[in-house]
Amino acid sequence: MIDLRSDTVTKPTQEMRLAMFEAEVGDDVYGEDPTVNKLEEIAAHVLGKEAALFVTSGTQGNQLAVLAQTSPGDEIIMERDSHLFYYEGGAASALAGVQMRTIKGIGGAFSLDSLKRAIRSDDIHFPDTSLICLENTHNRAGGRAIPYQQMRSVYETASSFEVKVHLDGARLFNAAAALGCSAEDLASCSDTVSLCLSKGLGAPAGSVLAGSAETIKKARKWRKRLGGGMRQTGILAAPGIIAITKMAERLTEDHIHAKMLAEGIREIHGLSVVNEVDTNIVLVDVSALNQTNGHILEALKKEGILAVAFGEDVIRFTTHYDVSESDIQQTLQKINNILKIQRA
Ligand SMILES: *Cc1c(COP(=O)(O)O)cnc(C)c1O
Repeated sequence: MIDLRSDTVTKPTQEMRLAMFEAEVGDDVYGEDPTVNKLEEIAAHVLGKEAALFVTSGTQGNQLAVLAQTSPGDEIIMERDSHLFYYEGGAASALAGVQMRTIKGIGGAFSLDSLKRAIRSDDIHFPDTSLICLENTHNRAGGRAIPYQQMRSVYETASSFEVKVHLDGARLFNAAAALGCSAEDLASCSDTVSLCLSKGLGAPAGSVLAGSAETIKKARKWRKRLGGGMRQTGILAAPGIIAITKMAERLTEDHIHAKMLAEGIREIHGLSVVNEVDTNIVLVDVSALNQTNGHILEALKKEGILAVAFGEDVIRFTTHYDVSESDIQQTLQKINNILKIQRA
């Protein structure tokens, strides 16, 4: 199987498995797991923040950022298609008691004007705007890398209104690789930043949330309240350290593969690539084929290729380190074959 459903399907490398086996561990709820402490130190350093926290998932990282930086009844602002709004089960409302206000963006980025209009003024009728959430790369925009300057201007605007910024950096290293800057540069445009260790970076589980020591202290308490205080988690932090320190460098390879796939797909009659392929995601519009998404995905599966539906007419392909250049060539060949057979 060539599994292009997501970069979350990556399995831990041999080196990661060995590191798990050998990890020094302790009770992390007592702050005594040396491997977790090391991961948190490295993550804080790489992201240019005072402190970091190892969390169960990207969703937990985002939600802890909301919980630690807002009060019930506040309003938080984000792009309309952001993960935090779209894919987290309404958690910000359910857990933090905040309301989410969305702004329509282009390629995952909203304009400064629309942001300024959305930030509430001081009025007894209005909720308080306490947090702006950015996402880089932007998943539903097809892995778009939001330029540094755009993020910087959002951060400056937010700061001028004394509003905090959280960066959902599930794929922050993909953004950094695509933009030719560092993860720290991008994270410097935020107060808190979350980073997934288990996507393209290949760790089996976990994310990190980084920010000021004070905010991370609050987040740590919220993590415990939510039942996320685990014990000898050095076993999971050990591959996370490898993810951050060694796996980020190779993401460009995934981006090259995604571009190859996109180029090949553009040449196939009836298919069109609808996103700018900045990173490792290719969104393909199949509406011209007059078949349901499910039907096409089934045909692909029979040929040994897995992808996912992304809305009604779009199929998403995601490259990652278990996908080689020859897998991309094979994928293109098989897509071609399927369509030829269907036309014949
Ligand atoms: C994957 C992802 C997350 C986190 O997802 P989990 O499944 O909770 O780890 C958050 N934000 C974005 C943009 C993502 O792509």
